[in-house]
Amino acid sequence: VSRHDQQAAPRIVRTVAELKAAGRELLETATAAGREASLGLVPTMGALHEGHARLIAQARDENAVVVVTDFVNRFQFDDPADFERYPRDLEADAAIAGGAGADLIFAPEESEVYPDGRPRVLLSAGTLGEKFEGASRPGHFDGMLTVVAKLLHYGMPDPATPAATMYRAYFGQKDAQQLAIVRRLVHDLGYPVQIRPVPIVRSAKGLALSSRNRFLTEEQQDAALVLSRSLFLMKERAEAHLPLRPVEAVAMIDSAPGVELDYFEVVDPGTLEPLAFNCAQTPFTGEALVLVAARVGGIRLIDNMPLGAI
Ligand code: AMP
Repeated sequence: VSRHDQQAAPRIVRTVAELKAAGRELLETATAAGREASLGLVPTMGALHEGHARLIAQARDENAVVVVTDFVNRFQFDDPADFERYPRDLEADAAIAGGAGADLIFAPEESEVYPDGRPRVLLSAGTLGEKFEGASRPGHFDGMLTVVAKLLHYGMPDPATPAATMYRAYFGQKDAQQLAIVRRLVHDLGYPVQIRPVPIVRSAKGLALSSRNRFLTEEQQDAALVLSRSLFLMKERAEAHLPLRPVEAVAMIDSAPGVELDYFEVVDPGTLEPLAFNCAQTPFTGEALVLVAARVGGIRLIDNMPLGAI
């Protein structure tokens, strides 16, 4: 992202009306300068790190206008304490977003997004939202989907901008279940937006970057490395067309002190259904996603690894 270091600080807007007006102005300026009319939206909850920067940088590469949304969505937290302690620092976020190439940051007050408090109508992630993360965080994906639907509307280029405006939204592979559910939202409800997945950004040692990692001590971060090690073991076996033997990965995690495994599962990337070849004998073929979640020092961590050609 360093080549965007010279970018001017992004403008921060607080209301949907300001977002729409600023987006239109930026699109008009870009198209007047001969650029393709395109807008990339990067939804985040702030506390930005290199993982978010990668999403923003990809949006920068692919679009004339880049909008980052920065909003901690109360209604996707099943634990109010987790919501309260979620890190918030708009100034630091603006520096990272600007460095990665964002033009605009939409950082609304809660009353702008939820003028009537908790919405009476929520979108449902259906069965995709009930398993894995949804099983231990009831309502999480319905809350996430509801705010993503709203943010996709807010960011959608105004009809008054050039008719052929391309609209793209960027989501990290880090939250694989979220990505699968957002893809279904767009497919099932016909949203006019292209979903662009972005690979997981990891620390030098392999830990998937997360805004929650700052709650871990260095020792706990080292203990958490067993999660990515177990995923890379599956990747090596998949690439060698060997049986995955996920039980061995589970044993690895179970033997790590201070790491409490929730799930480790090989699934279909679209349906998140466990795969039949998730067994000891069959050599791995095709495409799959390995999902893992664990608690380390009371902090819930998730990670995953796409296998095959996805
Ligand atoms: P969050 O602010 O945690 O809701 O994340 C906002 C977006 O950034 C989501 O699409 C995440 O999947 C993505 N993201 C978060 N961490 C990473 C990471 N380490 N690598 C890639 N994308 C990430």
